[in-house]
Amino acid sequence: MADVKKSKTNVTARQEAKQAQQLCRLCGNPIQVVMQLTPSGRKQMVRKCCGANA
Ligand SMILES: [Zn+2]
Repeated sequence: MADVKKSKTNVTARQEAKQAQQLCRLCGNPIQVVMQLTPSGRKQMVRKCCGANA
């Protein structure tokens, strides 16, 4: 039982570490992902960074 709990914690920690490692190739800043509503009313994941906003 304790192992299951531990592995779950590890998975969460891994995901956080993975997200933290997503850096922009151009400026090196962490890439922010935001939810945006398209004109058609759908949600869309958009990466916000130096030049990736277009
Ligand atoms: Zn950038």
